Amino acid sequence: MSAPFNFSAGPAMLPAEIMKQAQEEFLNWNNLGISVMEISHRDPIFIRMAEQAEQDLRDLMAIPNNYQVLFMHGGGRGQFSAVPQNIAGPNATVDYLNCGIWSDFAIREAQKYVQQVNVVGASVQTEQGKALAPRESWQLSDNAAYFHYCPNETVDGIALHEIPDVNAPIVADMSSNILSEPLDVSRFGVIYAGAQKNIGPSGFAIAIVRDDLLGHAQGNTSTIMDYTVQAKERSMYNTPNTFAWYLSALVFQWLKRQGGVEAMGRMNHAKASKLYQYIDSSDFYSNPVHPNYRSIMNVPFLLADERLDGDFLKQAEQAGLLGLKGHRFVGGMRASIYNAMPMAGVDALVEFMREFERKA
Ligand SMILES: *Cc1c(COP(=O)(O)O)cnc(C)c1O
Repeated sequence: MSAPFNFSAGPAMLPAEIMKQAQEEFLNWNNLGISVMEISHRDPIFIRMAEQAEQDLRDLMAIPNNYQVLFMHGGGRGQFSAVPQNIAGPNATVDYLNCGIWSDFAIREAQKYVQQVNVVGASVQTEQGKALAPRESWQLSDNAAYFHYCPNETVDGIALHEIPDVNAPIVADMSSNILSEPLDVSRFGVIYAGAQKNIGPSGFAIAIVRDDLLGHAQGNTSTIMDYTVQAKERSMYNTPNTFAWYLSALVFQWLKRQGGVEAMGRMNHAKASKLYQYIDSSDFYSNPVHPNYRSIMNVPFLLADERLDGDFLKQAEQAGLLGLKGHRFVGGMRASIYNAMPMAGVDALVEFMREFERKA
């Protein structure tokens, strides 16, 4: 069988080129005769790699100088508590747009740390599918310490393609869409992402934090989650996840070689529209999301007859198309087509779906 295409939502596929490089230098990194996993994070050679990773990410996302780039522990969900603890006092009001399942988790976590978590709006069912409550309907607070949303809801396949126009500092959970297309970082207060969708290994997270939001952590914030401490310590207050940092560094270099986020954005839009076009052209498959709110990273789809789901997944796997089972909360199928997924993977999926429909 030729190499499979892996549509897993996360941990997700990484570019083969990167995995090969990691394999080749696994036992002998930088001619040291030992692995990157076996070296002190304080060693100048590791620090050089870590700093280059930060610089590459800054270049890729055009991150302005008044933002800190933090390499954190605890994945995406670690940031669900880090955000309220770091940038809202316990008596604060914070605004959350409930875009879907991950937003919902973020809201429940924030409730532990701030007095007033105001949900300004949620997803809505329209005749053309699931959408988000329109901006005019949001019940924003006057004094919110921040406004939080998830621009790409990984499970629901719902995306908000415009950056919301609000007064409070915007905090965005970009776990599943960071680096997927160009972005104006200067519109945000905090951008965070668990690494395992579009960057590298799980358990690792990136937080991009505007300087003026530092220095306000609640007194009982755990030190490893304190943005101000981590900024001061260059994300090495304690031992960072060195292997994840290293692998992420390789991915950033790979992204640069691909032409950066502009090239990725063009490619990602092309991949997604090919898949949506096919789904829309068929009565056998459907996507539940309003066309204006469709994700370019996670494409959920349903079979008209859900009794065929099992066969679909089994045959897809036999054809080398892996990880297509929808999230356990919503069922159906989901194709995650992050940066590392080539167009050939989408072509193979569409071909398989067409064949499956024909035979059914
Ligand atoms: C996967 C995901 C998370 C959770 O990430 P963990 O690293 O498992 O904590 C949070 N938010 C979004 C949008 C995600 O896709």
